[in-house]
Amino acid sequence: RGEDDFLGIEESLEELAQLADTAGLLVVGSTYQKLAHPNSRTYIGSGKVSEIKNAIHALDVETVIFDDELSAGQLRNLEKAFGGDVRVCDRTALILDIFNQRAATHEAALQVSLAQMEYQLPRLTKMWSHLERQAGGRVKGMGEKQIEVDKRILRTQITALRKELESVREHRRQYRNRRVSVPVPVVSLVGYTNAGKSTILNRLTGADVLAEDRLFATLDPTTRRVQLNNGKEFLLTDTVGFIQKLPTTLVAAFRATLEEISESSLLVHVVDISHPLAQQQTWAVDKILSELDVASIPKLVVWNKVDKTMDPTKIKMEALERDHVICISALSGDGLKELCDAIQGKLKDSMVWIEALVP
Ligand code: GDP
Repeated sequence: RGEDDFLGIEESLEELAQLADTAGLLVVGSTYQKLAHPNSRTYIGSGKVSEIKNAIHALDVETVIFDDELSAGQLRNLEKAFGGDVRVCDRTALILDIFNQRAATHEAALQVSLAQMEYQLPRLTKMWSHLERQAGGRVKGMGEKQIEVDKRILRTQITALRKELESVREHRRQYRNRRVSVPVPVVSLVGYTNAGKSTILNRLTGADVLAEDRLFATLDPTTRRVQLNNGKEFLLTDTVGFIQKLPTTLVAAFRATLEEISESSLLVHVVDISHPLAQQQTWAVDKILSELDVASIPKLVVWNKVDKTMDPTKIKMEALERDHVICISALSGDGLKELCDAIQGKLKDSMVWIEALVP
């Protein structure tokens, strides 16, 4: 595991379990091992391999997921060691699965396909060595030739996809430029995954956007109109959730989706204040925001899920003592009016509506 992860091993596995749940899998157990270096052949040591193998039989396990990225060789060796039809995959493949299920727009679907192909490219060997084994070694050599052919095909597809993606993005940029010229301020909800962004969007707009207790309930920005009690309107956009240990191969897809943020008049950073790692999650989001060059955009911080905290009154007092922090429960509706007022106040500062008043 990487040294810069703020999650401990158990928290990281907990997050992995949540991801598995989001992908529709039923998690029956988890385990870990401390090693000075991952085993180059099987990632874990041979003792751990046997232990997991026993658990696979005892619990009738179909899939074993590793929290780190595995090499093609490690994947192959582990599948061989576990035997049967057990599927071995890593965190990246799992997240790709989820993205695949959730990709709602054409652009997101293209981005996910691209990331999937790039993930497959160095792992192609696996499929063919399987076939070779099934054929009892008769097709040996042919497999290797086939891998080269497949790699070439995949590379051609990747190039074509990149081109298509670029043209879709260009189209969106033009569309967005048109939208920006309409004097309606855009407010973007950002935050760690599962913080409650979709719930807030639903609450404020009555829109029927997917809100589930699952990671990545929102992959694509979803925009809705919100009317304030002063009669003015703004566009509220839900963005894709941040996650710790986002595989590097997926960063590009995430960034492209987050590009929209830079067009906003206001950022609303939603934090699940009931989460034991709320502070670290806040830092993780702030770090990515600072990389996105959005420092000049005004920001509000929303501490959500206050109803779930041990001492809501204390948390509310703490929020009051800070600038730009609003404490709410999107579930019960507590604090939503204050949130609307704060958004209204911020937007007034940002002058967007003054332009909007000019006929
Ligand atoms: P997103 O990933 O940031 O869009 O998060 P969601 O809006 O999908 O919310 C994730 C989960 O948290 C859902 O099960 C929501 O019902 C739940 N949730 C959201 N807001 C609150 C809240 O204020 N209190 C409680 N207890 N749960 C909430």
